[in-house]
Amino acid sequence: MFRINIAQRLKELPPYLFKEIDKQKAEAIKAGADVINLGVGDPDLPTPNYIIEALNKAAADPANHQYPSYAGMDAFNKAAGLWLQKRFGINIKSNEIITLIGSKEGIAHTPLAFINPGDIALIPDPSYPVYENAVRFAGGVPFYMPLKKENDFLPDLNAIPQDIAEKAKLIFLNYPNNPTSATAEVSFFNDLVLYAKKYNIIVCHDAAYTEIYYKGKKPTSFLEAEGAKEVGIEYHSLSKTYNMTGWRIGFAAGGADIINALGTIKSNVDSGVFQAIQIAGIEALKNGERYIKELNGIYEKRKKIMLDALNSAELKVYDPKAAFYIWFEVPKGYSSSEFVSLLLSKLNIVTIPGSGFGKAGEGYVRISLTVSEEKIKAAALRIKSAKF
Ligand SMILES: *Cc1c(COP(=O)(O)O)cnc(C)c1O
Repeated sequence: MFRINIAQRLKELPPYLFKEIDKQKAEAIKAGADVINLGVGDPDLPTPNYIIEALNKAAADPANHQYPSYAGMDAFNKAAGLWLQKRFGINIKSNEIITLIGSKEGIAHTPLAFINPGDIALIPDPSYPVYENAVRFAGGVPFYMPLKKENDFLPDLNAIPQDIAEKAKLIFLNYPNNPTSATAEVSFFNDLVLYAKKYNIIVCHDAAYTEIYYKGKKPTSFLEAEGAKEVGIEYHSLSKTYNMTGWRIGFAAGGADIINALGTIKSNVDSGVFQAIQIAGIEALKNGERYIKELNGIYEKRKKIMLDALNSAELKVYDPKAAFYIWFEVPKGYSSSEFVSLLLSKLNIVTIPGSGFGKAGEGYVRISLTVSEEKIKAAALRIKSAKF
């Protein structure tokens, strides 16, 4: 009989976080419950029309129907570079930027360019699971940096043992942060560059949430730090900024040698982003400012409603400065997954246990604000009237 032998690297993967939640949710829906899904962080609002119109036009042009260039269209990379210049004051040369099929793609391929089997990579805990799994796929060994509330959910670089730092090849970071919604100041990134130089560690900064922020306070970029381009790369995404998660487009900017190595991996794996999507992406980047303001106003309203409810239920909540997540502590006596199960069985609200993002996420729960205000209000009512 034919036997499929799955590779060890697949056997070693932790179960995909959202699969378990989806299963629990499906069972509740099947049982007829009015379930409100505050789990997955996928924007509910449509892509703005001006972007869709640009796609429609570009899709009809046969010049866009062939293989795109691996590194992205010059025009897209130029628009992304200009956007970085305008938004963060960073100067990016044409060999310091590359188009990605969503930032997840670039993140997942980076370890293949720099990690040899057995090499260490520094991974935040809790974090987006892709960093750790991509490191494992490349044969690397993750070393977890706990993100603690007493450090405002930033890693304590000095707490990393020296022998680990000396063996580390990469460090992954993500601010504004998923799942904690914490932000980082340029002073933190300056320290990070010094640390990276001291130990020769490539910094991989995931900046997917820089355009989702509150009270008009714009988050920073790692590339604003002194010398950042010498030591690192930053991933940007159009997904959350313009409600384009399904379109699959992003870009990475940073040191030319780092971008080039990632490009070599990519050129052997993928064939770039459909040009019509890149052309729509140029339009998104050029004319998105007004739209971003409007979108953040919507998230701000939702956030306030949910924060009020969580506070009145006497839960310890971290008021986010950016990103569309709310991170809060579970009441005494519960584990993360026990409390998430309770929210689902008692209130029909889907959330994500902090422990799903890593050991240090135990004791926390993540709520996503990517459902309508009406649903946020309904969930808030249920939370307010509950006794935990
Ligand atoms: C959503 C998200 C991304 C964006 O992924 P894309 O592939 O660009 O859609 C990247 N990092 C984190 C932490 C995210 O939550």
